[in-house]
Order: sequence, then C-alpha cells, then structure tokens
Amino acid sequence: MSLTSENLSNAKRFNIELKQLLCKRCLHEWLPRKTEVRTCPKCRSPYWDRKKERPYVRKTKTEEANK
Ligand SMILES: [Zn+2]
Repeated sequence: MSLTSENLSNAKRFNIELKQLLCKRCLHEWLPRKTEVRTCPKCRSPYWDRKKERPYVRKTKTEEANK
C-alpha cells in the first residue's frame, strides 16, 4: 500500500485552493492556512472580500459637491 503518494496528491489539490488572498479593507495579503477564511488576520474584518460594508449607498456630500 502506498498511502504516501495519495496523501501527496491530496495536499497538492489543497494547495491550489490555498492561494494568496487580498483584504479589500486594509489591502493586507496573506496565505490562508485553512480553506475557509472568515476574517482578515490583520484588520479582523469579516467583510475582507467585500469593498463596502453596507449593501446600499446613500448620496454623499462629495457627490453633490461635484456638480
Ligand atoms: Zn484586512
């Protein structure tokens, strides 16, 4: 039985999933140890893969100032 070669191929598959991630909040890049990443290790934001925290955007004063 050669379990070692099977384990190696499994590890390679996982390595494909564990690619470098970029936090869109603090622009921190890191290599995750787990396949499931919930928070950024630097800013701890659970929305590290999203740009905005709120789904809706209200009109800002800067938009009105651009007139
Ligand atoms: Zn971050």
